[in-house]
Amino acid sequence: MRDLITSIDSTRLGFFKSILDEAEIACFIRNETTAQLTNIFIGPLQATLCLVNDHDYEQASTLLRPHQTEGTCAAEEWLCPVCKESNPASFELCWKCQTAQHE
Ligand SMILES: [Zn+2]
Repeated sequence: MRDLITSIDSTRLGFFKSILDEAEIACFIRNETTAQLTNIFIGPLQATLCLVNDHDYEQASTLLRPHQTEGTCAAEEWLCPVCKESNPASFELCWKCQTAQHE
């Protein structure tokens, strides 16, 4: 067994699990409730996505990597590769010259 991702966002973990399920990688979500109760610290409830087989780790992280980057980039601005204007993350085309973000 190996921990893959720990997050307070259980919806996100559920989404990751469905990706691994589809790839037939055995995994489960472990809630950190017990740890929270035994510690005096009361914080956001955490959950960990765990792999049943350690050797699936490489494949699992490769599968999830694009989805993880997607989430972290969402709040960031991007620079147009053509005119160097900065664009809000929600824009797919540059507001100035209409160049697509990933061209
Ligand atoms: Zn541009």
